[in-house]
Amino acid sequence: MTNPINSYNIIPYIGKYVNYSDVYEGEKGQLDIELWVLDYNIERAKDHLIPEIKRMLKAFEHWFGPYPFYEDSYKLIDAPYAGMEHQSAVAYGNKYRFGFWGMDRSSTGHGMKFDYMIVHESAHEWFGNNITTNDIADMWVHESFADYSEALFLEYWYDKDAANEYNKGMRELITNKIPVVGNYGVNNEGSPDMYPKGSNMLNSIRHSINDDEKFRAVLRGLNKTFYHKIVDTKEIENYISDNSGFNYSKVFDQYLRTIQIPDFEYYFSEDAKKVFYRYSNCIEGFDLPIALDSGGTKIKIYPITKWNSSEITSAQSALFNESSIEKMYYLNVKEIVTEN
Ligand SMILES: [Zn+2]
Repeated sequence: MTNPINSYNIIPYIGKYVNYSDVYEGEKGQLDIELWVLDYNIERAKDHLIPEIKRMLKAFEHWFGPYPFYEDSYKLIDAPYAGMEHQSAVAYGNKYRFGFWGMDRSSTGHGMKFDYMIVHESAHEWFGNNITTNDIADMWVHESFADYSEALFLEYWYDKDAANEYNKGMRELITNKIPVVGNYGVNNEGSPDMYPKGSNMLNSIRHSINDDEKFRAVLRGLNKTFYHKIVDTKEIENYISDNSGFNYSKVFDQYLRTIQIPDFEYYFSEDAKKVFYRYSNCIEGFDLPIALDSGGTKIKIYPITKWNSSEITSAQSALFNESSIEKMYYLNVKEIVTEN
């Protein structure tokens, strides 16, 4: 090995393994792919794992930048458990099936379009192994991005609608019983909500930026700036704010440190030329911008906890649709019907 490995990422594998090698032409040159599988799995390993690994590398190098451990190769290794992000030797126990053991965690159908374990565990090479938190209380940095990577994979190989639907589907798994960030200094993880809730937070931030190239530059910039580094949550939060053009500190506080899901309330003026809006059921100062964009018509508003308003055209007012806003933003959206 050339690169140091976090102690939790080292595991011995013992079994009757056989090896199969391939090469991926990636952003940093030739990346060796090595499969180590039990001898009776070799044929299906070649057929199933190699194409799926290459799809994963193509999508993630696009979004996150070069695979972070070219010197040590990318290895996938048969394991008796579901999977784990052992650095440059990812454990694989997904039974050579798409989905998670053949199931779609999002209940949307999109989860059956990829091998969950290859996509999720390999995403940790960037978020978890390249960028590592110094306290597991901040483990959202590993798991939220790994969960969101599943949507980004779908977006790269299918389309943005599939990604949004998948991400929204994962909301069913959120419990909101305790905050995502745990207690520091006592080896305490926060809520398992760090997976689907964190990924929905990231998708909300991404839509509020409403600039896919800028968002991709933030993802790639994180992996470049914190290359092979140990970080804490504030470094990641501040990097995203500093490089996206908006201070998201209250948004991070809301989703990572409370269990409330904000309500976004809106109504139109009688002549329909103005929209009034505010956030409630949230922390003081919660201010997630909302960008709505149909491709032609767009509007960006900056709701806060006090009522505010913007002038709108009738085309813009059509963008205010509860379910389409909720598909992009992790909010409870409520149109207030005023009585005349
Ligand atoms: Zn994970």
